[in-house]
Amino acid sequence: MSDCDSGDRLLTLGEALAVALKTVSPLREIETASLAAADGRVLAADLMARLDSPLHDNSAMDGFALHLADVSLSQPVRLPVIGQALAGHPYPHPVPHGATVRITTGGWTPVGPDAVIMQEQCRIAPDERWIEVAPNVATKLKSGENIRRRGEDVHAGTVLLRGGLRLRPQDIALVAGQGIAALPVIRRLRVAVASTGDELCEPGVDLASGAIYESNRQILLGLVQRLGCVVTDLGILRDERAILLPALREAATSHEVLLTSGGVSVGTADLVKDIIAELGAIDFWRLAIKPGKPVAFGRIENCLTIGLPGNPVSVMVTFLMFARPLLLKMMGAAPVEPTRWRVGADFAFRRKPGRREWLRARLRFDPDRGPLAEVYRTHSSGALSSLVWADGLVELPEDCVGIAPGNPVDYLPFSGLGVA
Ligand code: AMP
Ligand code: MG
Repeated sequence: MSDCDSGDRLLTLGEALAVALKTVSPLREIETASLAAADGRVLAADLMARLDSPLHDNSAMDGFALHLADVSLSQPVRLPVIGQALAGHPYPHPVPHGATVRITTGGWTPVGPDAVIMQEQCRIAPDERWIEVAPNVATKLKSGENIRRRGEDVHAGTVLLRGGLRLRPQDIALVAGQGIAALPVIRRLRVAVASTGDELCEPGVDLASGAIYESNRQILLGLVQRLGCVVTDLGILRDERAILLPALREAATSHEVLLTSGGVSVGTADLVKDIIAELGAIDFWRLAIKPGKPVAFGRIENCLTIGLPGNPVSVMVTFLMFARPLLLKMMGAAPVEPTRWRVGADFAFRRKPGRREWLRARLRFDPDRGPLAEVYRTHSSGALSSLVWADGLVELPEDCVGIAPGNPVDYLPFSGLGVA
């Protein structure tokens, strides 16, 4: 069957995503997450800074706080050490001209001094009663030297983090630094995952004739979990209407998204698409992409259904390219484009134009030719080993007629697609 003979043209990925993104909306329910439970959650609204950070001028070094005007460019100057400003224990008095105070990193700079000299840069009396600053060191000291100013990192009243951010450890640290102990986050998206196929068998048991071990769920469960969704594993569903129909109907009542693999092509056992159409609706089911032409997008009641193809490589690619942006939107996350690098092709590839295609690729750096993408030895969509070998994908646009070595190609690292 050719790409067009059923009358309906294949949708490009861009067209399919535009249609699909319009039909899904972000979850609205908001929960409170403690900082310990906030990693990976989606921040529900802009968060304002309530404190300046740092809160007070403080020292960036272990050293001595002094008045710049006291040191000399022509002779060594000795300054008595009249006290100390340790982190957590500020020096409580102004420091007069002609004196210094020992200060540690993070210690508040006392009133008076306008610079901190590193302890390695001065001579310190054995009993620490004085320090001596040499002229060659004094020439290098500037006003504000080694002092971190109040508010130089964060200003109170400014936006600390934007709503829609998927919180990472450093984001949570910034929040903690503001003294904020809990965050408003969007309720987790509930996603059900099922594999379909009579030939599929759980790992750990003996294979019957014609059977294969099931692997797609491992891809989908892991990728969905990494997005921060709550995942339900529906297991393996046989290619039987009496099994598929009630299972899909039931899952749709308690999840926002139902992801299936297999059974959406044109074979006699490909029942998934028709059953979803019977229970709800299918908006489209064929995309101009490779691997993974059959992707059935629809819904059962309020549950979005995405029927992915059966071949393992197609599953991963269609999840990353099509399902992932939809899930992110439903999660309330700000849209993110995959990271994309224009690099040189270290391969030749012939193809028919018309579909967007992804090749399993690895990036390497050649000292003479710069960053180069190489591709796996086979392009079979059943070759799971290609995904293990690869650290990303080369994306070929719809109109690409082939690649010669040295041509520029787009390389998309897995890390920019949420697969670390
Ligand atoms: P289908 O789209 O159901 O015709 O499946 C296409 C190919 O992918 C067939 O060779 C299936 O055996 C294989 N396949 C389907 N589902 C899985 C799965 N969950 N794990 C591994 N292979 C699968
Ligand atoms: Mg099948």
